[in-house]
Amino acid sequence: QHPIKGPPVSRLYSTQQSFKGHDLLAPFTAGWQSTDVNPMVIERSEGSYVYDINGKKYLDSLAGLWCTALGNVRFGHRTLLGPLWLLHLFAGGNEPRLVAAATAQLNKLPFYHSFWNRTTKPALDLAKELIETFTANKMAKVFFTNSGSEANDTQVKLVWYYNNALGRPKKKKFIARAKAYHGSTLISASLSGLPPLHQNFDLPPPFVLHTDCPHYWRYHLPGETEEDFSTRLANNLENLILKEGPETIAAFIAEPVMGAGGVIPPPATYFDKASLQCLRNFYLQFLTNVAISNTIQVQDVVRKYDILFIADEVICAFGRLGTMFGCDKYNIKPDLVSLAKALSSAYVPIGAVMVSPQVTEVVYSQSNKLGSFAHGFTYTGHPVACAVASESIKLYKERNLVDKVKRISPRFQDGLKAFSDSPIVGEIRGTGLILSTEFTDNKSPTDPFPPEWGKFFHLSLI
Ligand code: PMP
Repeated sequence: QHPIKGPPVSRLYSTQQSFKGHDLLAPFTAGWQSTDVNPMVIERSEGSYVYDINGKKYLDSLAGLWCTALGNVRFGHRTLLGPLWLLHLFAGGNEPRLVAAATAQLNKLPFYHSFWNRTTKPALDLAKELIETFTANKMAKVFFTNSGSEANDTQVKLVWYYNNALGRPKKKKFIARAKAYHGSTLISASLSGLPPLHQNFDLPPPFVLHTDCPHYWRYHLPGETEEDFSTRLANNLENLILKEGPETIAAFIAEPVMGAGGVIPPPATYFDKASLQCLRNFYLQFLTNVAISNTIQVQDVVRKYDILFIADEVICAFGRLGTMFGCDKYNIKPDLVSLAKALSSAYVPIGAVMVSPQVTEVVYSQSNKLGSFAHGFTYTGHPVACAVASESIKLYKERNLVDKVKRISPRFQDGLKAFSDSPIVGEIRGTGLILSTEFTDNKSPTDPFPPEWGKFFHLSLI
């Protein structure tokens, strides 16, 4: 019998088991942790909760690794009150419709590939669904991967292929941002702007450049407004492009809200000044009769130098920010989009790259010349993963998940931001259902607590 329906878990798992010194080379884990500390071994999930192998229950407020977007419907939305109800929308396992979608596809066709103009119906259906769902900019094609890292690696190859096709062999450099996280493979880790991902891995290669992290609280100058800060960063980006030579810069990659780098929503007008600034300047101009020019922002700069914009939506997509995609929230008009995580609510691994009509056209003309677009994985368009992803998207829409997040997120944000006055809290920041707390001494970005204190905070938060 499944433990959920059996006797209380505490009795089932009364013996504490130790896996100290296990056989995994564990990701993002120090060697000493693997050998000296018993790992937390998670055995099952139920709604927003996960249970370890000893039966201890945890509220999974990170939703796995920001990915298990659909909770367990058996709990129903009415039974969980207050903040837990909010978290419920973005955590949990055991959604029967996803299990059914996977089972049906496993029974019908567990695998067929997508090479050499063969494919499967679930892959075709999911691509169509994604193109229809993403409305921030027109997308023409979808390429499936197994993860967000593979999606971003694919982006780099696509962009190089595109520029080779256009006869621009020098236009190959990528600009990413300090503190970005784009994955762990060679190229996606290089695009990431987190030093531990580079140190001792001989990364990044010279074709990857990093520009400023858009974290206003940490990096703004005295007296600088958020808008001025955004403009300074856009100017810095432009200066970097000019220094390197615009003919060498192929693409700019950005997460709408930076995730693993510390949950950093963009400062006001960073991606898009149009809505706020144009309106304000229109009135100012009207009142003062003095022409006021709109200051630049990163999308202007990128477009000015014919640089492709890649939106890494791996964390932001599918409702987390209160919009279906992060691009909708910040009026980003990307040429390429990376997806993963909530695409299948993490029930099965899948990622995707969405490609604009302009890039598609060039890539197709090149692949016609060369005989094929020689890129793909055995599991590209895996039918089970695609079936589960299609069902996930159906569920997001059916349950109006985006509207729910929009409705409840102010309460979630305000509730937790109420702790901002605490003397050990520097900043609490977030948007939609994503939020983080920065613990600092003296409430200052330049006074972090010593790293050893991390253990204390970790324990006290648990
Ligand atoms: N991009 C972003 C924004 C991410 O947050 C992540 C994973 N946290 C990735 C890419 C990489 O995805 P994956 O771990 O599936 O390779």
